[in-house]
Amino acid sequence: MMSFESFVRLGWSFFRTVLRGLFPRRSQLPRFEAQYRPDGVLSTAPAEVAVQEQAQRCFACGACDVVALERGEFGALGPGGPMGFVVGVTRQAGLDLGAAADVTPALLGALTEACPVQVPFVALVDLVRRRRSEADGVAHAAGTARTALPGA
Ligand code: SF4
Repeated sequence: MMSFESFVRLGWSFFRTVLRGLFPRRSQLPRFEAQYRPDGVLSTAPAEVAVQEQAQRCFACGACDVVALERGEFGALGPGGPMGFVVGVTRQAGLDLGAAADVTPALLGALTEACPVQVPFVALVDLVRRRRSEADGVAHAAGTARTALPGA
């Protein structure tokens, strides 16, 4: 049989749960994102989610790699080629955020044209550039904070 103490604890927990449910709390998602975005957590912003959904249709057929090889621009999106770039962005598979720094719009258009599921390379590159500028901003802020510490 349940002890009196257990009964009181359960009752207290129940009371607190009911009480919390009566007052809607602010979502903690923005705080969570602000904390973990520098570590690569994907954004829940609708525009970014739409790009991610389109890019996640990639089934690794390699057609974009062939196009990039034919144009002599295989490494324009990083050493893994365009397919490696798409997989890296959408599956968090260790992407160098500087990979898309110098790619040409003509190549991106050709890659999307060749892709059987129309992965939006232009939007994906924009997304990576945004992530990179966020990461640079965080690194800069951290560096400023470190140098501001006494004795740092
Ligand atoms: S062509 Fe499209 S589906 Fe095929 S590997 Fe490239 S991005 Fe993925």
